[in-house]
Amino acid sequence: MKKIFLGSIFLFASFFIFAAGCNYEQKPPKEEGPFLKSDLVELKELDSTLRLDIRYATTNNFIGRPVYKVACAFLQRPAAEALVRANKALRKKGYGLVIYDSYRPWSVTKFFWDITPEDKKQFIADPNKGSFHNRGCAVDVSLFDLKSGKEVTMPCEFDEFSERSHINYQGGTAESRHMRDLLQASMEAEGFIVYKSEWWHYNYKDCYKYPILNIPFEEVMKSR
Ligand SMILES: [Zn+2]
Repeated sequence: MKKIFLGSIFLFASFFIFAAGCNYEQKPPKEEGPFLKSDLVELKELDSTLRLDIRYATTNNFIGRPVYKVACAFLQRPAAEALVRANKALRKKGYGLVIYDSYRPWSVTKFFWDITPEDKKQFIADPNKGSFHNRGCAVDVSLFDLKSGKEVTMPCEFDEFSERSHINYQGGTAESRHMRDLLQASMEAEGFIVYKSEWWHYNYKDCYKYPILNIPFEEVMKSR
């Protein structure tokens, strides 16, 4: 999502809504099961070489201030293990995974929805359906170069919702498209499926099997 749009349009709405922040009292939509039992695991515990850049715990995100109180990354265990395998394969090629976001409590999705103007809601997950991030099976990722330690250049920035974020965008440099395609091939080899409008967003193949969750990070950590 372009920061111009974010900075200018969200400012007014967010001034009022931030006073309340994410409201964990609100309830996610009821869904018919059965679902697999949730088993969220912390990614860094499985693989300490994964790099975390949890944007919603920083000011470097589309609303310009932190939404998460802590910078953590969780996924359901099979998805987490698949991500670790993708990271291992990438490291052999000289790259590592950077995690921008993974499990996201439903109230945060609802919060994003509430502060987004009607004409931009197409870019935001509808809380009435929930996001795959809410099920602990979606992850937003990029790559960094193991030698330089720097993040690679992709065709556009994370959360820039424009034609440049599409997985088939043919503009930008050949190198940036090559990096995006390497990320896609590595993730899809382990059972993730790219969301075509966002080169950084991957759903794990079994994401429908898990329920929408609304557990804050602090409680996920305590329950483990
Ligand atoms: Zn995402």
